[in-house]
Amino acid sequence: MHVSRRSRRALAAARARRIALAALAVVVFVAAVALPTLVVPALSGTGATTAASRAATGATAASPAHGALARKAVPANDPGDIVIGVNGSAVTTVLKGEAYVEGGAHAIEPEDGVLTGAIRTSGDVDTSRAGDYPVRYTVRDSHGHVASTVRTVKVVDAMDPQTGGLPVLMYHYIYDPANPPADLNANYIAADALEKQLEYLAGHGFYQPSWPEVRAYVDGTHTLPAHSVVLTFDDGEPGFFTNGCPLFTKYRVAATSFVITSDGNAPQRMKDCKSPYLEYESHSNDMHRAGGTVGHGGRISAMSRQEIVDDLAASKRVTGSLQAFAYPFGDTTADARAAVKDAGALVAFTTQYGRAQPGDDPMDLPRVRVQGDESLDAFVAAVS
Ligand SMILES: [Zn+2]
Repeated sequence: MHVSRRSRRALAAARARRIALAALAVVVFVAAVALPTLVVPALSGTGATTAASRAATGATAASPAHGALARKAVPANDPGDIVIGVNGSAVTTVLKGEAYVEGGAHAIEPEDGVLTGAIRTSGDVDTSRAGDYPVRYTVRDSHGHVASTVRTVKVVDAMDPQTGGLPVLMYHYIYDPANPPADLNANYIAADALEKQLEYLAGHGFYQPSWPEVRAYVDGTHTLPAHSVVLTFDDGEPGFFTNGCPLFTKYRVAATSFVITSDGNAPQRMKDCKSPYLEYESHSNDMHRAGGTVGHGGRISAMSRQEIVDDLAASKRVTGSLQAFAYPFGDTTADARAAVKDAGALVAFTTQYGRAQPGDDPMDLPRVRVQGDESLDAFVAAVS
């Protein structure tokens, strides 16, 4: 993905190449699909069927080439069970003259698991000219299903900018109000209270920057539109998935789940959540436990830089992404910040209260804790 200022002629040539490739793909596709579908019905109901079927079955078992052909026979527009979504808002606003910051996308499939690393990105954004530019994300699963989604990049001549910092909201658990947990505390929010907050955000046109946009904002190189907000949920507990996933989809509000990937149930919970609005990032693989002496005593302060880098690599194998990291219990040290940077995360968050500001250390960003029992008015004040 790159920002180009190609001429109209170059674009036309690229379009012609794409059309030629698409035409070729159609020919190959028709050949792959038409052969079995045309031949097999012609034989059905006749004495030849059994022999022909047996021959075909034998060929399938004997020839890997036939298996490959069968895979290509999945209709190209059939996404199967792939869930794919863009990171952040599906309409990305960029101020003319600033760089377009590619936010990426995420994808998951019930059998394959996370497919985020296999997503292909295409499209050209010219930020020297106002207008709408599509960026397409496409991913293929092991069955040959192909799913895609599109981000619209809106380059604008002017925008009302976000001022006073960016609220990155921090939540933990979501519970069904008909069945409150025994240890109910401020880390729990009732599903109906969360729903009112999401309804508010959706109804008031809030902008949701991707993590790369957040990084560029903190670096002071990128303007975000007014009413920007980011939602994060720590720990990946069961109630978060069962109660939260349908709500993010219903209100089309993007959220990031900071998952503890050493939790053996995490991959299945992620696959069961069908929301394209939920992105998975790291809350560590195996650092969400005691063993250190800093802050809340999380073990991260007792680990070497290399051990932390290795832990984050293990975590990324489950989440498929390491754009953002949430320090377990919010505990951080200079070594931890260096390790998280080494591991490739763009931003890392503690549990310190506050808004992310341009000029902040991107490896040591605060968040705005949402108290489970706070009023909608208090929530509105926190994001305004
Ligand atoms: Zn946690």
